[in-house]
Amino acid sequence: MFPLFRTAAPGRRYVFIRGWKNMSDYLMQTYGRQPLAFVKGEGAWLTDTAGDKYLDALAGVAVNGLGHGHPKLVAALCEQAGRLIHTSNIYRILEQEQLAERLCRLSGLERAFFCNSGAEANEAAIKIARLYGHNRGIDNPAIVVMEKSFHGRTMATLSATGNRKVQAGFEPLVTGFVRVPFADAEAVEKLAEHHNNIVAVLVEPFQGEGGVNVPETDYLTKLRAICDRNGWLLMLDEVQTGIGRTGTWFAFQHGSVLPDVMTLAKGLGSGVPVGACLARGVAAETFTPGKHGSTFGGGPLACTAALTTLRVMEEDGLLAHARILGDFIRADLAERLQGQAGVMQIRGQGLMIGIELDRPCAELVKLALAEKLLINVTNDTVVRLLPPLVMTREDAVLLTAKLAGLIRAFLG
Ligand SMILES: *Cc1c(COP(=O)(O)O)cnc(C)c1O
Repeated sequence: MFPLFRTAAPGRRYVFIRGWKNMSDYLMQTYGRQPLAFVKGEGAWLTDTAGDKYLDALAGVAVNGLGHGHPKLVAALCEQAGRLIHTSNIYRILEQEQLAERLCRLSGLERAFFCNSGAEANEAAIKIARLYGHNRGIDNPAIVVMEKSFHGRTMATLSATGNRKVQAGFEPLVTGFVRVPFADAEAVEKLAEHHNNIVAVLVEPFQGEGGVNVPETDYLTKLRAICDRNGWLLMLDEVQTGIGRTGTWFAFQHGSVLPDVMTLAKGLGSGVPVGACLARGVAAETFTPGKHGSTFGGGPLACTAALTTLRVMEEDGLLAHARILGDFIRADLAERLQGQAGVMQIRGQGLMIGIELDRPCAELVKLALAEKLLINVTNDTVVRLLPPLVMTREDAVLLTAKLAGLIRAFLG
């Protein structure tokens, strides 16, 4: 049994208790958790209950873009919390309007709906697509989705997800999704010949959970053209890739096409839950009063977190930093792993990085933990790095040195 802490206030002594039941036994067992807890953080570093410091190359799975304890974010949240935390979408929310304007200006989209998570943002997108279809007289609208995709854990989003593990046991799934391989525009094109009920394509610009999968650079351009020819909405799930993760505000900005709908969440609030579904054109006009909503969505505190995140990213030049640091990490890893059998590919964009090995490597997460390094493994064989956008060059060198050593030792 692990010792348990009752209080985790920084500066206080931890009170350890042992009982007949572990504290974690009171939780539904939804996660395979690592047996440690953090009590504070600064930049790319986290401190656990024992006082040990860990280098964070995961950022709460692409959430903590500003790292931990960013003074500007903390100050803005304290000020906002002291003034106003929640009102209701029954009233105008000024912070929400400001955030919508900011996101629209950055993306070229026209309207925003706010919610609290990535799955919720995708639910909004899916509802927009279906309503768009019904408005055009299609009463069984279908959405094209990809193999190896991940869109969330609610019933509609797990049904859209291209991973049987996420779906198994939750049948009957939500219908109305047609699946094709990722990064294969021709497969999408072919669907148009056989289906007259398709209304949208939902796709991640780079797949995250699916293994940091990067398509050819013209993939979205081709999808845009197919959508335009058929009157379908191009809907991008940028929940993981958005908000600077890949070195541009949004991953679609590496190319020259605009989506009709885009969803955001993870990095948007730097750890404060906030999701968004943005749209333009007819997609932006599809929801009318009563068609969708959220009690908490777009509240003053969450919107202040997001507005501050965007402001700090600009003030601190974090987009350019993410590009430069990402290029450095990939190049440095390639050099350190040069000639190592078992390393298949090092890929990614900005600070979304995957190292594909020739074998399952989930064990590397534990090995890294022992070296006080936080990483992730996804799709069984891909080591995934999602460092905070504020990670320093010095910390990045520590990361690549430690990780290359771990991978070499693991592969033997
Ligand atoms: C994490 C993720 C989601 C789900 O977000 P939640 O906030 O966990 O609901 C959806 N899409 C993508 C691409 C993601 O990476």
